[in-house]
Amino acid sequence: MKALFLLSLSLLAVVSSAKDFDFFYFVQQWPGSYCDTKRSCCYPVTGKPDPIFTIHGLWPNYNDGTYPSNCDRQNDFDVREIEDLEKTMQNYWPTLACPSSNGLKFWGHEWDKHGTCAESQLDQHSYFLSALNLYKKANILKALQDAGIDPDDRYYSVESIKQAIKRGVGFTPGLECNKDESGNQQISEVYLCVDTSGQEFIECPTFPRISCRKEIQFPSF
Ligand code: AMP
Repeated sequence: MKALFLLSLSLLAVVSSAKDFDFFYFVQQWPGSYCDTKRSCCYPVTGKPDPIFTIHGLWPNYNDGTYPSNCDRQNDFDVREIEDLEKTMQNYWPTLACPSSNGLKFWGHEWDKHGTCAESQLDQHSYFLSALNLYKKANILKALQDAGIDPDDRYYSVESIKQAIKRGVGFTPGLECNKDESGNQQISEVYLCVDTSGQEFIECPTFPRISCRKEIQFPSF
């Protein structure tokens, strides 16, 4: 009986530790680089988003670079839990997928795939609220513009972009690039790291695989 008890205790430990994670990536995207690709984009039903970096997601990650996903299929996205945040999310977390929509599908995808892996730390409302609070603290466009880096279709060095963000936001970012319709490499996503409480930025324990050339375009939007 005692052995059975110990066995179930350790099983429980394995099951619950499987949901743990080491840090979050807080990922912002440049809408201009999402939209000028071959795939193109659709503006949300609320209209063209402002020309600012917008939120992609808040993603639990492991120090070895891997990440958990779709951790709890019983805890589906429920828009009623974030009604008070919806307006702010439309501004700062806009969907750009086609066909044009109100964002629920995008936010639902982010919660189901990533958010459910952080439910030991954050319920649905605090997950989205944490992302919005982090967004307020990390103004990427301002950091870049303060360093003379503007969305003007010119090329900038990856190093200068990283340094500008480090200076403005306080932490070294990871960058992701994609290609526009003509094949030019451009800045698409900016990764910052956050502690497991979802409240404080930290230096990244590990960076996503670099996909940028030395000089990349910052397209207008
Ligand atoms: P994820 O699954 O969270 O790693 O994000 C990748 C998925 O999110 C891809 O299917 C993207 O096309 C989609 N995605 C990224 N940004 C947006 C956006 N602004 N609106 C809608 N879908 C997006």
